[in-house]
Amino acid sequence: MLSDFDHNTEYRRKVLLVLLLITFVGGFVFGLINIYRGVYALAFLEIVYGIFSFFVWRRVVRTEHFQIWVMAYLLPFFSIMMYALSVPNSSQSIYVWILTIPVISYLLMGRKIGFYFSIFFMTLGITIFHLKFLTDDIPLNITVSLNVILSGVLMIALAHVYERNRETNEERLMQLAGTDKLTGLANRMKLFDSFASTSDYAKRHKVDMSVVLFDLDYFKNVNDLYGHHGGDAALRFVAEFLKKYTRKSDLLARFGGEEFALVMQASKSKDSFQQIDSLRKKLMETPFIYNKQKINITFSAGISHYGTDGTDLDELLVKADERLYFAKEKGRNCVVDQSIPQN
Ligand code: GH3
Ligand code: MG
Ligand code: MG
Repeated sequence: MLSDFDHNTEYRRKVLLVLLLITFVGGFVFGLINIYRGVYALAFLEIVYGIFSFFVWRRVVRTEHFQIWVMAYLLPFFSIMMYALSVPNSSQSIYVWILTIPVISYLLMGRKIGFYFSIFFMTLGITIFHLKFLTDDIPLNITVSLNVILSGVLMIALAHVYERNRETNEERLMQLAGTDKLTGLANRMKLFDSFASTSDYAKRHKVDMSVVLFDLDYFKNVNDLYGHHGGDAALRFVAEFLKKYTRKSDLLARFGGEEFALVMQASKSKDSFQQIDSLRKKLMETPFIYNKQKINITFSAGISHYGTDGTDLDELLVKADERLYFAKEKGRNCVVDQSIPQN
């Protein structure tokens, strides 16, 4: 599963590749036409830009600095459009290219930067158009001017609304895809997704990090005694309990069935054990009330430590799971954070 940023970049990369192909071919075709027409400076710019498009194409396929390359590509692209519109014997039809500015900007750079790029270059393009193509015929000028301005405003407005809807829908889908339906906690996929940024932060700020796996004890009995509804309600209760007593900065997820995972930041090995053990005692003392009946729920937990037990979430979960297994072996309702020496 890709993070928001990667997801957007992948989508924008595809849009950019199509555009690069068009500017590569267009740069050469218009360049040759303008050589024929004797507009050499513009022809030179167009051909150089065609070559530049090919160079950008080779970079954007794998670059991590996608946004920088997009800007390095679009700034000259839009500037050449302005120049093409302003050279002495250019045609009015170049204005149709100006109308593509908002669509390209919003698709490739998102709502914020797309808006600034669109406003700047559209204003410049419309101004050049007015200075160059308006005649002495005032009524005709008003019609032309209104056409140019209104179509420009409409294009910006449409691109803006489209991109805002796309971002909102994408956020909603990402939210849904990363949420466990029963408990409302993050799911396993979201845990893996968020771990990358949490571990980056831990590495950069040299903070300790621990991974905890919880498994509820004898949970089958809860289902057997109170039915599947009772079991579901108990899972929601435990999720709320863990959410309430863990920090907002920690990553809490329903890992599957009646298992939960927690990635704790800034926890020294000893601290994380103490925190989880006091959580265990607190849950023991907090019965879950279902249909006026008290149900005692306990968990067993295994803890692994970032660095000493690995740096990859998979590795850390394997270690935490091994220790969770030992916690069950020890009789349940306990926490294990060290590997048991094999003999
Ligand atoms: P222990 O972990 O202590 O060994 O015993 P356990 O009884 O909890 O055993 P196990 O972890 O193997 O079983 C988990 C049970 O959790 C099995 C399944 O019926 C129940 N369970 C898993 N997911 C859900 C769920 O979404 N809703 C309900 N109601 N029950 C679930
Ligand atoms: Mg289980
Ligand atoms: Mg269990």
